[in-house]
Amino acid sequence: MGCYISVTKKEIDMAKKLKFFKAVLKEIPTDEVMDSVYPFKHDMKLEDRISNCSECGGNEWMILADEQAAVREGGKAYCECLGCGEMTHL
Ligand SMILES: [Zn+2]
Repeated sequence: MGCYISVTKKEIDMAKKLKFFKAVLKEIPTDEVMDSVYPFKHDMKLEDRISNCSECGGNEWMILADEQAAVREGGKAYCECLGCGEMTHL
């Protein structure tokens, strides 16, 4: 009985309050993309980095937020194809 209570209390302590974030997509001009994801000096051209989606041919990319796991772990500006979900980075 005492053991059961302590396990239950531990589970309660480990539980975290859920939080939700909703992304709202806002189109940005193509010529501002590289400067927005690489704010420091760079000489990379967008057209050398990304084109239509290799999977579906789509032309709409969502730039993932800095807080998203792929960006934090990969350290790069990841994009997701709005057509099929294919991920790539700039
Ligand atoms: Zn695609």
